Amino acid sequence: MDSLEKLFEETVRDIYYAEKKILKTLPKMAKKASSPKLAQAFQAHVDETETHVERLDQIFDLIGKAPRGKTCPAIDGIIEEGEEIMKEADNDTVRDAGMLAAAQAVEHYEITRYGTLKSWAGKMGMSEAAKLLDATLKEEKATDLKLTDLAESEINLEADESGEGARPRKTATRGRQ
Ligand code: FE
Ligand code: FE
Repeated sequence: MDSLEKLFEETVRDIYYAEKKILKTLPKMAKKASSPKLAQAFQAHVDETETHVERLDQIFDLIGKAPRGKTCPAIDGIIEEGEEIMKEADNDTVRDAGMLAAAQAVEHYEITRYGTLKSWAGKMGMSEAAKLLDATLKEEKATDLKLTDLAESEINLEADESGEGARPRKTATRGRQ
């Protein structure tokens, strides 16, 4: 790897692989989520993720390369951990809290990648690519905030209360106290 251009291309391939993997995983998480708000947040991000893939397609076009992903062990690991939690959780509220935490780890991974790529694109004078990367970066950050909000207002409170056993889930939505 002898140039920033090459490094940029390899990193675009990394996040392209990650986005495609996320696109496969999010609908499964939406299905398993017991909180309707969490399911809705996952589902909304499926649509955004489709756009993220499209924007990366446009970036491949801009750099004159065929769109091709490169295995990203980091995202594989984060998703694997999330799947483990989904399997091991003994009740809905714990599963929701675990999935929410895994989803935030995914968002943070994306935020670090898009932040770096945007800054490299800027350095190389690729303003069109920088704009596309910034649009996705903003959506990843907004998703992360939305998940934080859910964690603080609903999901984790219920997981806390569920303690050892599976106390019936409260269906009423609660505001922050
Ligand atoms: Fe994304
Ligand atoms: Fe995302």
